[in-house]
Amino acid sequence: MNTINHFINGAETAGTGDRTQSVYNPATGAVTAELRLANRDDLETAVAAATEAAKTWNHISLAKRTGVMFKFRELVAAHIDELAALITAEHGKVLSDAKGEIHRGLEVVEFACGIPEQLKGAYSDQAATGIDVFSFRQPLGVVAGITPFNFPVMVPLWMAPMAIATGNAFILKPSERDPSASMLLAQLWKDAGLPDGVFQVLHGDKETVTGLLTHPGIDGISFVGSTPIAQYVHETATAHGKRVQALGGAKNHAIVLPDADLEGAADHLSAAAFGSAGERCMAISVAVAVGDAADQLVKNVTQRATAIKVANGTDPGADMGPVITAAARDRIVGIVTEAKAAGAAMVVDGRSLVVEGHEEGFWVGPTVLDNVTSEMTAYTEEIFGPVLVVVRVDTLEDGIKLINANPYGNGTAIFTSSGAAARKFQREVTVGMIGINVPLPVPVAYHSFGGWKASLFGDKHIYGPEGVSFYTRGKVVTSRWPEPTHASGASYNFPSNSTD
Ligand code: NAD
Repeated sequence: MNTINHFINGAETAGTGDRTQSVYNPATGAVTAELRLANRDDLETAVAAATEAAKTWNHISLAKRTGVMFKFRELVAAHIDELAALITAEHGKVLSDAKGEIHRGLEVVEFACGIPEQLKGAYSDQAATGIDVFSFRQPLGVVAGITPFNFPVMVPLWMAPMAIATGNAFILKPSERDPSASMLLAQLWKDAGLPDGVFQVLHGDKETVTGLLTHPGIDGISFVGSTPIAQYVHETATAHGKRVQALGGAKNHAIVLPDADLEGAADHLSAAAFGSAGERCMAISVAVAVGDAADQLVKNVTQRATAIKVANGTDPGADMGPVITAAARDRIVGIVTEAKAAGAAMVVDGRSLVVEGHEEGFWVGPTVLDNVTSEMTAYTEEIFGPVLVVVRVDTLEDGIKLINANPYGNGTAIFTSSGAAARKFQREVTVGMIGINVPLPVPVAYHSFGGWKASLFGDKHIYGPEGVSFYTRGKVVTSRWPEPTHASGASYNFPSNSTD
């Protein structure tokens, strides 16, 4: 049985913890590895190594730092097949989708390659007579990233390149469900020339997370995961004096207006609801069908959902793989069953799907529920599975009201051919990322990613310009270099620029 170790101070290590957790292949249901879970000593060792590494990494020139970033980019691109295979084996998503997430992660590495432009600062010459003022940013020190199972490469790459390029040491606590890809990333960072201790991987569960959140040697925490844990992370780490960005769960709505291209909208909705078995924080899980759009839209989506090929993610013909665990499958099936009992119309039922030859896998087929109301659990809960619920409303205003009343605010989309409707929508919804005829509006790396309301705790969105800001602190220098012959200009009054 394969054992997955930590990556501390430049090398794989078993650590001293005696707890382990099984890692599964969700397509077969088989245990494929035992993951070591860190104990307190392992955490102390990693934080000590990071603290030492941060002291020198911070002083490495921008030219050398970006040299490492360029090399890392090259190595990740060269190992894309290997990384994708690790993702599919432990997450279950299809290989092409796994490669897609790696490409999105690489975009952040590319942005980090240009970090000197972001760290240039600002200079005001002669702010007062003989006085110049300039501002620049410096790293926080040691930061940790705690990541979810659903993007085992992309989400760590939302964080680590930004933290490292800005001069921090970074400790990754990946999801215990699919930890192997992070170990390959650690090796690639090392091969790219990153000094030992600047990127480390510490595996663990709640115990390790709480250790990171409360450790005095850690200056910042980036978290991506479910809302209850995001809130816990934000509250605990801020109470311990850390800077925190904690991205939470989602319930993403797509409004479809009657003037939309209903064939194109159904293609996009189906891909956004069932791709990666619905286990994306930006998945569309609620279709808000406005007025006359509803019947045709449900018919079109039904056609797409029933044509999806569900299989092991390694099957080149697969559109969708399994869900992450048996418990996730049972929970999803339970919510769907409850919705049906509460009066939702079962249009496509994926509850009893079994994939031949993979009978022990964690399967749920594409599922469509119509006439869902905002009181049903299928609407109020983040299902995080291949389930699209359809809520029917009369007007665009009703749709916006529904979205704004929802506690989540990660992503949303509108399908329409009306610029006026789209503009009203983009201005009025209380959601962080908006797609106009785009179902999964994940921002490119030079914008930042973040939701509103229960989808983000903290001030800063992740990666892009806000990522730079999150991982750095500002300094402003007011300087005077007087000619030796000049009077000092000192005064007992508070310094004012208007009297110079
Ligand atoms: P999760 O919250 O269960 O786990 C996330 C991380 O927190 C993992 O590393 C896990 O080990 C740790 N963790 C779990 N329980 C903990 C506890 N009690 N105390 C401390 N740490 C704990 O999330 P998940 O199931 O891995 O991922 C799916 C969730 O992540 C969904 O809710 C999804 O919407 C969300 N997500 C959000 C975004 C976003 O950008 N907003 C992106 C991806 C995923």
